[in-house]
Amino acid sequence: MSIGIFGGTFDPVHVGHLALAQSAMREVLLDKVVFVPNWIQPFKTGQAVTPGEDRLAMLEKALGPYPNMVIDEVELSHEKVSYTIDTMDYFRNANPNEDLYFLMGADAFFRIEEWKNASRLLREYGFVIGSRPGYEDHQLLVLIKEIQDKYGTRILLLENPLFDVSSTRLRGMAEKGEPLIGLVPRSVAEYIQENKVYNPEKREEEALEGIVGPRRNHILGVVETAMKLAQRYGADIYKARTAALYHDYCKDLDNETTNQYIEEYHLESKYKNQPQLSHGRIAAERVKREQGIVDEEVLDAIRYHTTGRKGMTLLEKIVYLSDTIEPTRDYPGVEKLRALAWVNIDEAVIMAMDQTISHVNQKGMELDIDTVEARDDLRKKIKEKENE
Ligand code: ATP
Repeated sequence: MSIGIFGGTFDPVHVGHLALAQSAMREVLLDKVVFVPNWIQPFKTGQAVTPGEDRLAMLEKALGPYPNMVIDEVELSHEKVSYTIDTMDYFRNANPNEDLYFLMGADAFFRIEEWKNASRLLREYGFVIGSRPGYEDHQLLVLIKEIQDKYGTRILLLENPLFDVSSTRLRGMAEKGEPLIGLVPRSVAEYIQENKVYNPEKREEEALEGIVGPRRNHILGVVETAMKLAQRYGADIYKARTAALYHDYCKDLDNETTNQYIEEYHLESKYKNQPQLSHGRIAAERVKREQGIVDEEVLDAIRYHTTGRKGMTLLEKIVYLSDTIEPTRDYPGVEKLRALAWVNIDEAVIMAMDQTISHVNQKGMELDIDTVEARDDLRKKIKEKENE
């Protein structure tokens, strides 16, 4: 049996993907095509990706009418950057007697030599390539010949119908509320509309869902402050906004739930029975899995907003500080801290940490060493700068 493995983000799956898979079955006589949605593509790390759950649901709807097109969740279930070499090895182990091909569009093939273990991938597996508008067939043929000479790769070039459609463009259209009918199967278009998959406001609604009263005002205050500080110090205001919106995603967990997450995400055991200290760490993991936020800078700002850490990034400092000075905060010294935040962010973070440390000590609570290290590191850096 010949099997085509079709990896992609499928965010969303569209008619270009379906046409490519159909051409491959017709022209190369593949018996089936396995769609493998990835968790995060190596070339797309840092970009927000729609949660796997939605991408999977859209694929299921799109492939429903085609019994020879199936889905495999191997990459999604690993929850880490997906590499084709690992995926192909997995399918070869599972199907040792079948003829395996990797299916891809011309755009992806142009970067094939940058892929992990490219040389082994190209020696050991066959490739079926579809043309894609905007990519010169002549250049593609030259590259195919080069790769074949270098690695002896089995490569088949399809004569697939050209569809000038990309997921990026479709997401842009969906965000503006433009109809997608004709570009994605009708069932997928309906799913996108019903579930507001590409509606940016949905993020906000979800992040704040069920949160009312002072907690809601606190989050909105952190968002507002973080965006202003980002503007003031030249950080990315969108990243600041996302991190602020989700910073308290896991606030108020009980000890038992906290401990379960610590185990599940392999977090440091010092956070056992410490929901206050660990809620940032847990939030970062859950936001990554549940909200599809994969930007490590944003995740770190969420992760370390409770304790800080040595070597904090600007975004981390912004979210940490915004949490302590947002407009609804009211404690002795907050005005001074607010004023300092606009003048010198490092000094302000140090001041906020000093306050936390003495408060924790006074109350006889557990002090996280990360906060002390973060503060000392900032002090050291300021001294070093002064001595330059
Ligand atoms: P994005 O715009 O987000 O990069 P995409 O439309 O390229 O997305 P992916 O899910 O990244 O979709 O693509 C999976 C595979 O499908 C890739 O190998 C890509 O080259 C191929 N492909 C995508 N769109 C087309 C198309 N219109 N014609 C032919 N191949 C396509």
